[in-house]
Amino acid sequence: MKFDLCVIGAGPGGYVAAIRAAQLGLKVGIVEANHLGGICLNWGCIPTKALLKSAEVNHLLHNLDSFGFSAEKIGFDFTKVIERSRVVSKRLSSGIAGLMKKNKIEVINGFAKFLDPHRIVVSEMSPGSSYLGGSGGRVSAAMGVHKEIEASYFIIATGARARVIPGMEPDAENIWTYREAMIPKALPKSLLVVGSGAIGSEFASFYRNMGAEVTLIEMAENILPVEDEEISKIARKSFERQGIKVVTSAALKSLKKGKTSVAATVEVGGKAEEITAEKVIMAVGIVANVENLGLEKLKLKLDKGRIVANGYLETAEPNIFAIGDVVGAPWLAHKASHEGVIAAEKIASKLGKYDAKKIHPIKIENIPGCTYSMPQIASVGLTEKKALAAGKKIKVGRFSFVANGKAIAAGETEGLIKVIFDEKTGELLGAHLIGAEVTEMIQGYVIAKQAELTEEDLMHTIFAHPTMSEMMHEAVLDAYGKVIHS
Ligand SMILES: Cc1cc2nc3c(=O)[nH]c(=O)nc-3n(C[C@H](O)[C@H](O)[C@H](O)COP(=O)(O)OP(=O)(O)OC[C@H]3O[C@@H](n4cnc5c(N)ncnc54)[C@H](O)[C@@H]3O)c2cc1C
Repeated sequence: MKFDLCVIGAGPGGYVAAIRAAQLGLKVGIVEANHLGGICLNWGCIPTKALLKSAEVNHLLHNLDSFGFSAEKIGFDFTKVIERSRVVSKRLSSGIAGLMKKNKIEVINGFAKFLDPHRIVVSEMSPGSSYLGGSGGRVSAAMGVHKEIEASYFIIATGARARVIPGMEPDAENIWTYREAMIPKALPKSLLVVGSGAIGSEFASFYRNMGAEVTLIEMAENILPVEDEEISKIARKSFERQGIKVVTSAALKSLKKGKTSVAATVEVGGKAEEITAEKVIMAVGIVANVENLGLEKLKLKLDKGRIVANGYLETAEPNIFAIGDVVGAPWLAHKASHEGVIAAEKIASKLGKYDAKKIHPIKIENIPGCTYSMPQIASVGLTEKKALAAGKKIKVGRFSFVANGKAIAAGETEGLIKVIFDEKTGELLGAHLIGAEVTEMIQGYVIAKQAELTEEDLMHTIFAHPTMSEMMHEAVLDAYGKVIHS
């Protein structure tokens, strides 16, 4: 088999790269060891959002009174809740198969390994086996049917997997990674979530709103440590109000497995504490899938276990590009897919099929980050602390959900919108949101940032009434002493 471009890994990075390259007239193949759609569609973004929707419904059903309703015998079938999320995943993953067919992209099932910069060998996976990433993956389960593929260009889009702390390895029974946490057999009575990044906070939120006793521990001083401190503090208060026990500056020292529970020893402020829970979710970061790929045969470089790539996703091996989680933070599906487009266009330009001048390198500072917990959190750009650390003189505006008509009507009065501008230039440096629907609203600020709009442009923009997005306007006005409704 011979292609202009062969993509390795069909997550959001890989399949988007393949589609864009096919649109530009390249002959494209894509190798996938597990299932189309990668982590995002099968074990990440999509199934978690389906689960969180169920948790939101449960929450609403228990708060009907405030809307003038009542209902008796409110209950749920947990198996059905889980099943629904799997059905949603499957539907989207099958959709990717349709897109591959439509774009005449050849899908090769199996695990790819480089022989040299222009050739890979693909080992077919045996039926029922799945590749879980890295040395923990069942690569040895490959059936031994090998296909050799030649391509002018390759894109490595092999993603990442859950980080494992030695001595605290997941056992699929009581110590879970996100995978087991997504397909539990039953709702645990109690749960310890280790790590309060987006994944940990979303699971804490899901399980708490379904009725589990949840403890969330975080090594940093604040939960959601990459977010603006003010927003993290609001999130903590809200989680605690919902009954989540939050412990910060907490270092997990050990996990001791019992028959039906796990005892965690956690060091907080120099003192050891024991937390016992039926299940533990380890959400302590992710590791790039770079093993067993034959990378030692290539010139490309690794840094802290990730493939080094420039803003155009080029590696040190001239015909090999790398995108998505395998090249590092932020580990987000929309970053992976955008990098896929850039890499595909760059390759097409090298083959004379696209104008290189039209290609822009990835701008990490313009990538939004969203956490779909209750409340939701969304941000783009610099936090207040980082803006100040960068020596910027700033103007900060805030607007609270409690003063917005649509939020009050929707019963969603908890939340804040915070914007940070460069005092000198009016550049929007960062936007930090917490509350209902903020994962949809953030896009307004992302467009403003990408288009390099200033505070003046945003102030002159008319926002529809009544909408929650009016708060985005008010927060900008607040930064310049012109706020109306507060
Ligand atoms: C629980 C959870 C929730 C998340 N929620 C969100 C969210 O809400 N929003 C968001 O933006 N991001 C979210 N993410 C992150 C998101 O899933 C990843 O950033 C995204 O999937 C990365 O895309 P990718 O294409 O780089 O890799 P992946 O999606 O990891 O895909 C890589 C693919 O490569 C395949 N592969 C690996 N090695 C080989 C090989 N040698 N040969 C062939 N195939 C191979 C794998 O089987 C896999 O299918 C979440 C992640 C998790 C775990």
